[in-house]
Amino acid sequence: PTPVPDRTAPEWRALDAAHHLHPFTDHKALTEQGCRIITRAEGVWLWDSEGTRILDGMAGLWCVNVGYGRRELADAAARQMAELPYYTQFFRTATPPTIELARRLADLTPRGLSHAFFTNSGSEANETAIRMVRHYWALEGQPARTVIIGRDNGYHGSTVAAAAMSGMKAMHRQGGGPVPDFEHIRDPHRFRNGPDQSPEAFGRTAAGWLEEAIQAIGPGRVAAFIGEPIQGVGGLIVPPPGYWAEIQRICANHGILLIADEVTCGFGRTGHWFGSQTFDIRPDIMTLAKGLSSGYMPIAAVMVGQRVARTLIELGGEFAHGFTSSGHPTACAVALENISILDREGLVERVREDVGPYLMERLEGLSGHPLVGEVRGRGLMAGVELVRDKAGPGVFRPVGRVGTHCRDLCFKANAIIRAVGDTMVMAPPLIITRAEIDTLVDTLSRALDQTK
Ligand code: PLP
Repeated sequence: PTPVPDRTAPEWRALDAAHHLHPFTDHKALTEQGCRIITRAEGVWLWDSEGTRILDGMAGLWCVNVGYGRRELADAAARQMAELPYYTQFFRTATPPTIELARRLADLTPRGLSHAFFTNSGSEANETAIRMVRHYWALEGQPARTVIIGRDNGYHGSTVAAAAMSGMKAMHRQGGGPVPDFEHIRDPHRFRNGPDQSPEAFGRTAAGWLEEAIQAIGPGRVAAFIGEPIQGVGGLIVPPPGYWAEIQRICANHGILLIADEVTCGFGRTGHWFGSQTFDIRPDIMTLAKGLSSGYMPIAAVMVGQRVARTLIELGGEFAHGFTSSGHPTACAVALENISILDREGLVERVREDVGPYLMERLEGLSGHPLVGEVRGRGLMAGVELVRDKAGPGVFRPVGRVGTHCRDLCFKANAIIRAVGDTMVMAPPLIITRAEIDTLVDTLSRALDQTK
C-alpha cells in the first residue's frame, strides 16, 4: 500500500479545506476558489491532478534551480538513507556528507567564508545569524552592539525574530509583537524612492540612508546590517550601481558586520554562484537555503567568515544553538549532488550568458505596454512592475492591485508567475530553454492585455 492514497481532485480539495492550514494563505478565499492539486513534475513543468501541464515560472518558491525530476538527487537520498539516514552533529559526532558539504560550500562561497552552520530553512538560518552576531559582539566585549539594521521590504523569514528583521509591515502586525533592536532603512528601489535621480546618484542616496540610521542609533549599538543582494520577495528590487560598494564601505567604517541573505540569490540565480559575486559584496556572514538542495530537501546554512568564526571558536565555548536536523546527512548528500549538477552542467554560466539575458530581452519587449512601468532583473530573476497610469517617460504613478489580477490570469493560462504588490516576478528553474521562456513571456503578455 502506498502511504498516499489515490483520490479525485474534489476529494483532495475537500480534505485540504477541512484539515490543512497553508502558509501565507487566506483560507476563506482558498476554500471559495479551491486549490490546484499538484501531483508530479518534470523539467520546468508541473502537472495537476486533472492532468493539466503548468509552466513553473517560479521554480517552486525560487528554489528548484536544477529543475524537477532529477533521478540523481533521488538516488543520492536513497543511498544515504540506506546507509545512515540520520545522525546528530551534537555530542562530538559528525557525519561524512555534512563535513563534505561544509568543505564544498567553503570552497564555493566568496573568500573568507570558511565555516558552515546548518539549519533546515532560510528563516532558521537568519535566526541563527541574529544570535550569532549578537553573541560575537558580546564575546568581543561590546555587548551594547545588539541592533540589526535591515531594509523596508526585505524578507528574511517568518519566525519571530526573522520576521522582525524583515521589512514587511503586515508581518510585524501579526503575532510577532514588538521585537526590540531591529531597525529598517528605505529600500534601494529607484522606481519608487528616487525616480528623479540618476541610477548612480540614487545608489549614493540609498546607501546614505544606512549611514543616517547608524548615526541615529549610535554606531556603538549596531551589530550588523542585513540585505539580500537583490530583494526578491519584496518586489524584485535590483540595487543601483555603486550601492553595495558604498554599503560595504559604511559597514567597514563602523566595524559593523555585513550579512548577505542569499536565500533566493544563491546557487546561480543571478548568473554567478552567489549574488554577492554579481555585486561584489564581501559579507562576514552569508545565509543560504532554497537552491542549496534545489528544494529537494529542506536544508539551509549560515556561512561564517573568519572574523566571526575565530571569535566564536577561540572565545565562545559552547554556542547553545542548533536543531535536531542541523547537518542532516541525507539532506547534505542531496545538496552535494545538487551542487555537482549545477557545476557539471554549467548551469550558472548558462544563466549569465544565455537564458538570463534572453529572459530580460524578451521582457524588455513588454516595456511599451500601457500597464508596464519598469522591467528589471539580473540572471533568471526578473520583475515587471505594473502601473495604472503611465503619464510619460519617467513619470509613473503606481496605484492599485493589478498584480494579483494579472497573476490569476497567468495561472488560469497554466503559467506560474508571482505578484508581489504590483510587480510580476519570475524566477524559473535554471534549465529553462529559450522556447520555454517564450511561452512564459507570451503568457504574461496575453495576461497583461486582459488585466484590469
Ligand atoms: N530569506 C529570503 C531572502 C527569502 O526569500 C526567504 C524565503 O522566501 C527566506 C529568507 C526564508 O526562507 P524559508 O522560507 O526557507 O524559511
